[in-house]
Amino acid sequence: MKLDAKIPEGPIQDKWTKHKFDVKLINPANKRKYKIIVVGTGLAGASAAASLSELGYQVEAITFHDSSRRAHSIAAQGGINSAKNYPNDGDSVWRLFYDTVKGGDFRSREANVYRLAQVSVDIIDQATAQGVPFAREYGGNLANRSFGGAQVSRTFYARGQTGQQLLLGAYQALAKEVESGSVKLRTRKEMMDIIVVDGKARGVVTRDLVTGELETHLADSVVLATGGYGNVFYLSTNAQACNVTATYRAYKKGALFANPCYTQIHPTCIPVSGDYQSKLTLMSESLRNDGRIWVPKAKGDKRKPREIPENERDYYLERKYPSFGNLSPRDISSRSAKEACDNGLGIGATGYGVYLDFKDAIARLGRDTIEERYGNLFEMYERITGDNPYETPMMIYPASHYTMGGLWVDYNLMSNLEGLHVIGEANFSDHGANRLGASALMQGLADGYFVLPYTIGNYLATADLKKIDANTPECKATVKEVEDKVNKLINVNGTKTPSYFHRKLGKLMWDNVGMARNEAGLKHALEEIPKIREEFWKDVKISGTGAEYNISLEKASRVADFLEFAEIMAYDALDRDESAGAHFREEHQTPDGEAKRNDEDYRYVAAWEYKGVGQRPELHKEELKFENVKLAVRSYK
Ligand SMILES: Cc1cc2nc3c(=O)[nH]c(=O)nc-3n(C[C@H](O)[C@H](O)[C@H](O)COP(=O)(O)OP(=O)(O)OC[C@H]3O[C@@H](n4cnc5c(N)ncnc54)[C@H](O)[C@@H]3O)c2cc1C
Repeated sequence: MKLDAKIPEGPIQDKWTKHKFDVKLINPANKRKYKIIVVGTGLAGASAAASLSELGYQVEAITFHDSSRRAHSIAAQGGINSAKNYPNDGDSVWRLFYDTVKGGDFRSREANVYRLAQVSVDIIDQATAQGVPFAREYGGNLANRSFGGAQVSRTFYARGQTGQQLLLGAYQALAKEVESGSVKLRTRKEMMDIIVVDGKARGVVTRDLVTGELETHLADSVVLATGGYGNVFYLSTNAQACNVTATYRAYKKGALFANPCYTQIHPTCIPVSGDYQSKLTLMSESLRNDGRIWVPKAKGDKRKPREIPENERDYYLERKYPSFGNLSPRDISSRSAKEACDNGLGIGATGYGVYLDFKDAIARLGRDTIEERYGNLFEMYERITGDNPYETPMMIYPASHYTMGGLWVDYNLMSNLEGLHVIGEANFSDHGANRLGASALMQGLADGYFVLPYTIGNYLATADLKKIDANTPECKATVKEVEDKVNKLINVNGTKTPSYFHRKLGKLMWDNVGMARNEAGLKHALEEIPKIREEFWKDVKISGTGAEYNISLEKASRVADFLEFAEIMAYDALDRDESAGAHFREEHQTPDGEAKRNDEDYRYVAAWEYKGVGQRPELHKEELKFENVKLAVRSYK
């Protein structure tokens, strides 16, 4: 299979403008003849569904939540990047492009990243016009703060609730289209499979989560906006419902899964506190604008943090990366925390924690300013831990947070499976091997508001789409496959809960395919995953039936997919015999512990093709070309 990213010709600055001119348009009267299914109504899905409907297409938006406002996007705290350069501190489209390519450790597609930086300025205008209450300066201009991996302030924010406010904006836009009748919103329906007819994605099969009914939904094109797979590690900062099912089942139907091993571990999360915890909580990266990260210099120092004098503290990020300090990128900051804890310098009961300290910022700016900037995050921290972070430093540790891998898409955001478009965190995205903070919201909204609405039209205008209905053999066969799978799960009738298997898989993945990986660990994971999967299919217990509201069935179905998907992650991490961004292979590091890339052999997007459960998937490579940013060793020193 030859992967064609369909990158337009010409200078990088002109590619998107030229492409928009070159794509075929559909006249307004004809648009309403086309139907598009959008699965997922987070920021990516809601913005796409609203924009496509506004353009005149018929849209069916599907989510398993009871309201689109419950998508995991609502959890985003810190902010959204844009190259507006309001602070006049040297930002530009070019600099955002450069920072993102470098931040991703030179493993992303230049043309996509440049387009992302270009449309980033439109997103802020769109959201502001919708009434998103971004923070403002005294004079009325929108305010900015800094995020990791950048030396300019380009992050727009609404306190620590930026995702929620942006989602309310996108939701209002969607609700308007629902009201007008051109978006049919289907809530509480889980997409269980893609319907492929003549090699083209033509619909989905859903399970109604309340009644258990399986339904067929047909369209001219399908858009997946179903988020990331960070919960493969069981514990993560993601909402518990986040899962890989939609993208994984599309993969099983022929879509390639790209770079699954690129998983982001966020440096500032509340540490794990016990074996039966089900979730980890993020403390936004924005806190690193004012918080200083440190550990005691002496191993096993059990004194209270305030009793440890300045000269006995190691502000390790400031020491190791003086240019970026506490705002070093996430992969680098996470690894440094791990290194300190592995060296016995970690704090807290488990020794897997480091301090994030606001003492100096409070002394410099006053408590009121800190409260104004991060009040809700401090309150959340205190509610969870019982500690008051205004008085004692926060304790934090890295946790699974975001997935740069996802379904492979070309420049038009279409997967290799014709008609299947993938947007937001669900695609393999523009972030390469590491995502810079505040860039996921930017990418999801860029895809939904500004990129897909152009590119999908070109597909619809040129595709040869035959008439189908629910009785078309491919549709009936897909419903039958889903039905068989549901029955198979129910009939296992074993003794252990789906969560038992999820937790077991998550621990294996965290230990071997987590923040640091090596050949032996990855091979071990590849041996163990099939064993857990086998045990699952012999011993999982699902209470109730398939014809009712059944949370344990929902969970089991998602865990079953994680148990297959985990293997591709391990294969990908094993194949990528280099360190790049968040993918840290212990065999490949510099003497001072930094990631060592191998551009000659691994400058590619790894796109995996399904070959059967338990079989090694086939690797296809999209070579990455760097014509505008010079390949260099990534340094934040
Ligand atoms: C705690 C936290 C804080 C964050 N803070 C920031 C930040 O400050 N800045 C930033 O840029 N990024 C941040 N991120 C990342 C960012 O929030 C996400 O990457 C982004 O919101 C993902 O949006 P999405 O629309 O792609 O997916 P989601 O918001 O996850 O939406 C997925 C949608 O798909 C639906 N869905 C999934 N599977 C199915 C299925 N099988 N059937 C039907 N529906 C399905 C869900 O119901 C949901 O509607 C943060 C992430 C976390 C975890």
